[in-house]
Amino acid sequence: TVVDRSSKVFVAGARGMVGSALVRRLQAAGYDNVLTPSRQELDLLDQTAVLEFLRAEQPDYVFVAAAKVGGILANNTYRADFLYENLVLECNLVHGAHRAGVQRLMFLGSSCIYPRDCPQPIKEDYLLTGPLEQTNEPYAIAKIAGIKLCESYNLQHGRQYVSVMPTNLYGPNDNYDLQNSHVLPALIRKAQEAKERGDRSLAVWGSGNPRREFLYVEDLADACVFLMQQGYDGPLANIGTGEDVTIRELAQTVMRVVGFEGEIVFDSSKPDGTPRKLLDVSRLRSLGWRAGTTLEDGIRLSWADFCQRRSEARL
Ligand code: GDP
Repeated sequence: TVVDRSSKVFVAGARGMVGSALVRRLQAAGYDNVLTPSRQELDLLDQTAVLEFLRAEQPDYVFVAAAKVGGILANNTYRADFLYENLVLECNLVHGAHRAGVQRLMFLGSSCIYPRDCPQPIKEDYLLTGPLEQTNEPYAIAKIAGIKLCESYNLQHGRQYVSVMPTNLYGPNDNYDLQNSHVLPALIRKAQEAKERGDRSLAVWGSGNPRREFLYVEDLADACVFLMQQGYDGPLANIGTGEDVTIRELAQTVMRVVGFEGEIVFDSSKPDGTPRKLLDVSRLRSLGWRAGTTLEDGIRLSWADFCQRRSEARL
């Protein structure tokens, strides 16, 4: 194959939730030449440093798993940071990879790139057919720019830079900050702490009615490595489970897993965001890939990771 086990693979963002899952998946598949520089070793916002790194290392494949990410409140509050940092690191990595002569790269986007009110499930073709959700528009614009950057280097320079669009992700190494995280890690932490305190209720932001699809990050990593090994260089590909739940149902599932029996109280001062965000995953399914982890199993594994990391941090 084009990218075999002796290939040199650079995972940008290797310490994050997605990057670390990719590194584990690559190692499990027998790749033993994986570059995982930390932020201290390589500042992805530094154009010169990134170009020098790529020129010196000459990777066979680059995963762009680095991004400034966060939940609905973080995206809405730090709008300039989300736009600027994501644009700069994408430019540094994609343009840098091209200048260094890297032929293959995978750029990870996000399902929020699609128009707010587009038909469901969301097909890849709906990109740029309508206005975006306001709360995460800067992040979405940066990710759309990343997709177009890859597409343009392919068209102008014959590169094979692929873009994949994961749905909402969760799993080991997630961010559990109560203000800035995504809904799933936030609910795991809130439910666990409510249980420990003996609370009677759990605060859930918004109305509970928005629908979201959740993919366990190990499944995402599996899909990415699957596409890399296939030598996939087709158009952008959604990665999800093909199923969604309401935020209310999600909260109930988290409470069941964690073992917290209380009442859900909705906080209407917080935004709902997009009403629904379910990806059409038929493109990936036609290539032979499907998510393997159920939502309940994934939540159980993430909860265990949260409890373990919290106890280690307290030692
Ligand atoms: P989004 O998918 O970009 O909207 O990002 P989030 O994962 O942050 O939020 C998804 C939905 O969950 C939104 O409707 C939030 O209002 C709702 N939600 C409920 N409780 C929480 C919470 O504690 N934290 C977060 N981040 N969202 C919550």
